[in-house]
Amino acid sequence: MKLRLSILAITLLIAGCGDGNEITQPPPAVGGTSQSGGEQGGNGSTTSGDNNTQLSSTQAIEKIVNAQGMEHATELDLSVFSKAEFSCIKDNNLEAVKGYLINTQDKLNHKELQTRLCKVAELYALGSKQRLTFSLLKEVGIKGLSGSDGKVNDWAMDELMLGAPEQAFEWAKLQKLVDDFHYNQANIWPKQINISFDDGGALESIYQHLPLFDKYNATFTYYVSHYFLIDSEKVAEIAAHGHEIGHHGTTHKHAKDYVEKNGLQKWLEDDIFDSLSAMKSDGLDVTSYAYPYGAYTRETDTELKKHFSHIRKFASWASVNYRGERSDRPITTGLSIDAHRFNLDKIRHAIDTLKGGETLYLATHVIGKTPNEWYITPENLEAVLKYAAEKGLKFCHTNECMNFKSK
Ligand SMILES: [Zn+2]
Repeated sequence: MKLRLSILAITLLIAGCGDGNEITQPPPAVGGTSQSGGEQGGNGSTTSGDNNTQLSSTQAIEKIVNAQGMEHATELDLSVFSKAEFSCIKDNNLEAVKGYLINTQDKLNHKELQTRLCKVAELYALGSKQRLTFSLLKEVGIKGLSGSDGKVNDWAMDELMLGAPEQAFEWAKLQKLVDDFHYNQANIWPKQINISFDDGGALESIYQHLPLFDKYNATFTYYVSHYFLIDSEKVAEIAAHGHEIGHHGTTHKHAKDYVEKNGLQKWLEDDIFDSLSAMKSDGLDVTSYAYPYGAYTRETDTELKKHFSHIRKFASWASVNYRGERSDRPITTGLSIDAHRFNLDKIRHAIDTLKGGETLYLATHVIGKTPNEWYITPENLEAVLKYAAEKGLKFCHTNECMNFKSK
């Protein structure tokens, strides 16, 4: 039995060597895994150990310093680090350290590099994702986590945290997560716009202007209030036209005030559930909600998240600043483009400076003049649609805006 196993093992070995050169190739440049890489490192130290034992301490240091940003860093084995007195490099973190050396763009001197490599080893052994702080990541030389102003780029940090393993933090893999984020933002993720209209009273004007949206291949979200009072067939037609129908309160209550006076449950019953179930039973796919008056509390946010995938707030102050926001957020703010706030230059600027993965959320009410200021003229609406279409923005429903990564 033993003999047969040995023969089999030898046969496999021979077959393996003859089949190709995968076995003798170095590990991949980025993120060589510690398990497979570790073994290769071990083998390396026995085969190339003869050369390295000849090295003086100065030569060993030079060899490590010169390996920064170089593929040949894979050839370094533990004996070189030992000879150079980089004592925090051990068998168990050797691959992570080599991953750093291959991929870094920094050119540090001996002492700086020694400190850096010890930090890289410390990072690898950190043990908990919660301890991956911005300052530590900066200390180990991870690039792209802050802007030119030095401020933390929260989104880059979030992407790193999202993709990082629970432990064994290899420098090269973390750096790749940040690099991927910047690449996706610049090249892959769409620049998006979501235009929304609020209130049951806007129904007729929206319905009449459907051809305007068709002209620019644009979609919008219509947040309906007073569903029980308005023409539900027209709402269904708008949905059938490819637009999104959201919820905007059964009778348009001020969530904050109503909850304060009557409690959360009563608010849910009186202003959320009735119309929501009516719309759903009419076949409308309602997954978004916009607060009447933009009024909310932390408590209402938490509660609404159980019933909607997206919640829209509302900003309508004199100096409203148009700009895109991260598309991956379930709670967003619609920036008023109502008559008294509308500023085409500012909107165009926001469109021009939008980044991949961001959505510009614009919100208004009736299309066409009303006695108050809560409307947008068809001309102004068309100017926005035209500019957004010319700039190649993607018009998105809120759930599409959020799921932009899967496109
Ligand atoms: Zn409203």
